[in-house]
Amino acid sequence: MAVEVVQKDTGYLLEGPHWDDVTNTLLYVDIFNKFVHSYNTVTKEAKKVEVHDAVGAIVTTTSGRTMACVGREVGYINWDAGKFETFCEIDLKKGTRFNDCKCDPAGRFYLGTMAVQDPSTSSEETKKGQGSLFCLSPDKTVREFVQNVDISNGMAWTNDHKTMYYIDSLTYGVDAFDYNIETGEIANRRQAISVPKSDGVPDGMCIDDEGMLWVALFDGWAVNRYNPKTGEKLRSIKFPTKNITSCCWGGANRDELYVTCAKHFLKPDELKEQDTAGSIFRVTDLGVKGVKCDVFKDN
Ligand code: CA
Repeated sequence: MAVEVVQKDTGYLLEGPHWDDVTNTLLYVDIFNKFVHSYNTVTKEAKKVEVHDAVGAIVTTTSGRTMACVGREVGYINWDAGKFETFCEIDLKKGTRFNDCKCDPAGRFYLGTMAVQDPSTSSEETKKGQGSLFCLSPDKTVREFVQNVDISNGMAWTNDHKTMYYIDSLTYGVDAFDYNIETGEIANRRQAISVPKSDGVPDGMCIDDEGMLWVALFDGWAVNRYNPKTGEKLRSIKFPTKNITSCCWGGANRDELYVTCAKHFLKPDELKEQDTAGSIFRVTDLGVKGVKCDVFKDN
């Protein structure tokens, strides 16, 4: 197993990594700096586009475009023109913003939200219960599936399309829902994994082809691998900076784990010591393969 920095210090609160296996490109966002990033791991070409508001997530689509959640809108990123083009506006509750958002295996876009917080306060001080989990269908129908969410974060779907895993960070765990791929509906919420506070705050996650979950731990210096059927922690990958935000599978064989992290909340002395904060990591030789990042169905 090896951990390396593939892009050093590209932002402040890096989040939402999404691997585009058509172009071998890693996409990610820098939430408060309002940038979407793209990095081609083969050609090493890096691009970024500034958007008009806080950006929660970025994904690719079946038509080969890129879609991002910005402010109250979901829209396309036009990389050549450096512009955001609105697809639809979501009726977000006042004082909330998009956080982690992800597509399901049927091409719907699950949009998580949380309270807008004062950047100087900690995750624990986030105004609770303000967030939701919405589901945007390709026909632009929006449904609100979960309410009273503190910090809507990681999502993952099992290969058999029967279960969706979900992280509301301040519950310090990962929940499971029964998932219906035909309708997108989720039901029967229960806790699958409990994360002790001393391990950090569960943030973004992805799933491997053995059905195990890889959970990024904010304030936890790690991505942990768990068995969601037993709740058991199987493995912990350590990083040289503490606010690990999310992870996704990438690489030609989908066996590389790309990991984002943040400078957010780090004090000046911590920033000096953790000079990889705000970088993109790649973990290789894990002996595990991941699952493809799902894309929005727009054609
Ligand atoms: Ca997150």
